[in-house]
Amino acid sequence: MFADVAFPISNFITFTYKVPEKIAQDVKIGSRVNVQFGPRKTQGIITELNTKSSFAGKLKEIDGLVDDLPIMTQELWKLIQWMSEYYVTPLGQVGKAVLPKNLSTRYNPPKNWMVQPIITGDGDLEAVKKRAPKQYELYQEILKTEKPIKVSSLKELVSNPLTGCRGLEKRGLVSIFEETSLPDVTGFSFDPIHKKVKFNKHQKTVVAAIIQSLDSKNYSPFLLHGVTGSGKTEIYIEAVRHCLDQSRTAIILLPEISLTPQIAGRFRAVFGDSIALWHSKLTQAQRSWTWKEICKGSFKVVIGARSAIFSPLKDLGLIVIDEEQESSFRQDSPAPRYHARDVALMRATYEGSSVVLSSATPSLESYYNHLHKKLTYLHLPERFGGAKYPQVHLVDMLGDQEESGKFGQIFSGLLQDKIEDRLQKKEQIILLQNRRGYSPVVRCGDCGDIVMCPQCKVALTYHRKGSQLICHCCGHFETKQREACRSCQSPNMKYSGTGTQRVESLIEETFPDARLGRLDMDTARTGSGLTKILKDFSDGKLDILLGTQMIAKGLDFPNATLVGIINADLGLHLPDFRAGERIFQLIYQASGRAGRRLKPGEVVIQTYVPDNPVIKNAAKLDMMKYYNIALSERNELKYPPFSWLAKIEITGRNQTSANSLSERIAKALKGKYTGLDVLGPSSCYLEKLRNNYRFQIVFKSLKKVDPNGQKLHQFITNNFRDFQKKFRPGKNRINIHFDPLSLI
Ligand code: ADP
Ligand code: ZN
Ligand code: ZN
Repeated sequence: MFADVAFPISNFITFTYKVPEKIAQDVKIGSRVNVQFGPRKTQGIITELNTKSSFAGKLKEIDGLVDDLPIMTQELWKLIQWMSEYYVTPLGQVGKAVLPKNLSTRYNPPKNWMVQPIITGDGDLEAVKKRAPKQYELYQEILKTEKPIKVSSLKELVSNPLTGCRGLEKRGLVSIFEETSLPDVTGFSFDPIHKKVKFNKHQKTVVAAIIQSLDSKNYSPFLLHGVTGSGKTEIYIEAVRHCLDQSRTAIILLPEISLTPQIAGRFRAVFGDSIALWHSKLTQAQRSWTWKEICKGSFKVVIGARSAIFSPLKDLGLIVIDEEQESSFRQDSPAPRYHARDVALMRATYEGSSVVLSSATPSLESYYNHLHKKLTYLHLPERFGGAKYPQVHLVDMLGDQEESGKFGQIFSGLLQDKIEDRLQKKEQIILLQNRRGYSPVVRCGDCGDIVMCPQCKVALTYHRKGSQLICHCCGHFETKQREACRSCQSPNMKYSGTGTQRVESLIEETFPDARLGRLDMDTARTGSGLTKILKDFSDGKLDILLGTQMIAKGLDFPNATLVGIINADLGLHLPDFRAGERIFQLIYQASGRAGRRLKPGEVVIQTYVPDNPVIKNAAKLDMMKYYNIALSERNELKYPPFSWLAKIEITGRNQTSANSLSERIAKALKGKYTGLDVLGPSSCYLEKLRNNYRFQIVFKSLKKVDPNGQKLHQFITNNFRDFQKKFRPGKNRINIHFDPLSLI
């Protein structure tokens, strides 16, 4: 037997290997195999099995299978094939995303030696004390707890504690044994949060519709549009319950790591240990173990980030995409450049599952798809339990500062008063500043020179901790603070702009007694750090939760009655057709954190452009009005959802060469069919990243001529599937983005 094997390379070719007799029974399409590939041993995926091979030369044999139990379902394999085709990405690269190399079913959790004291008479002990004082010391330490402890935890006392413990065992003083240490995956979850749930009229209708679709076992896509606090999470729980009753499984995709602990707590209260969590903070051991247990069928529900959509669950009945509008569901780099929402819809068609795209602020695409009857619309128009919408104050920062005569203030008078008021009332406050670090721009007060990243065309952000200058694009950092300007040697360096750390120090000065937690990518480096801040806020041990967009959505804190959006304009002026939509959703979502139960909530939104339609309508919480404006804008400019979009990104170290390649490509591809607009080539908004210059060509194919996007897809496939041959990019790279979310 012969197998075609794909590797994670940027080429669509596969390679034929002989299948050795001893594994012939076990190899399947989609199996991972170890093989010799060129000079190295590596992993590949079997894409075809044949009894004959037309290859005339000598073929190598497969070394062996990577996994010892089936990891691929038929549906998942179909999904991989679809992704390869749709995103114009070789199977091997898609395979690598679906089945990362570091996951293997051969993973076994490590075993630890444990030791436990046996209480005996003192006679022996005296002897030990004299003859083996080190062992005596060990024994005293072991005696401190009655429970077994890890032998390795005694390393500080002696260099080889196991030998010492063996000695003690011989004397009958302790017993030692080996224990498998299962990774603790509950550390990333709140303790189970039990609720008494009684559905209201709207909720009942929604639940009934989802249950009916689950019972049909047919592909059914829904848009669940429920205002903030309307009980969407309770709906997911009920739907999952029904799904498990049918002996099927479910995936819940979350857009943001910060949502995991609370939702996990709510799910664990109902489903106990059948829940697996899948996110970027898992250690390698937790990740491998979780994945293996999913393959074995031990978990029935996977809650996780984007890549959880590839969980090897069998009999998948339900996929929920929480906050479906979030851009984190899109993977832009590396390939495959996919959108987990679209992948979910596809997986559901293969599995016959129900899909619930859920949000208080659906993406314009999903909203449009509902208008065009591609999604079944479910609506929760009210907050649960009669909770009212918050009262929103829009503060014109320019006016405010003119009035007070104080410029460059971070807090308006109103926000400061409201914070004080809540601190007095012992109610909680959430403050959003969607930028981390202390100050995003460091510039020379004399010549105006800005401190830039040496590898990217991006200003370095000053971080207070460790006095570092960090590039938020490539991670480059300089630990020594700039004492003087590099251009004019002036020592007059100015730290301008505001990140979460600067707000933090201002709060510490202004409200010295307030207990403050800051949540951004820097404080959430570890899962336990993140969980602790959220838990402390939830338990009322913190008065103020300050953070980036990590705190803006999905969280449910009943005692939080004030939300302050410190600078609502951040990101509003990015040259991207989705900038407005994103800011609207962020403000609306953040506002939704206020007053979720009986106490009324208030929101203070600070802006320099109070008349901007995005800000104005977000402040009125008027979604329909803004969506209608945004849709007509998109229509006018021929952007999605009125067109299909593809973006070709050309990058290279040599600016001239990358530029001329992009000119050459654009020239070859202009005006190929009516209804196709070709924009560019132009420099990307981030012109240079990690020493690579970036150019892009954007293709827009109008839905009027290309209703399901097939024309554009065919066009991109024809021109870029074999781009190496066709365009000879040399050292430059060509990246294909189908349905890109962003054009910057
Ligand atoms: P959303 O996800 O739509 O923002 P949640 O599911 O977090 O809303 O619901 C808001 C709050 O109301 C939660 O604390 C939730 O437990 C509670 N809640 C919602 N629906 C019900 C219900 N039917 N019975 C009891 N509590 C409910
Ligand atoms: Zn200078
Ligand atoms: Zn950089």
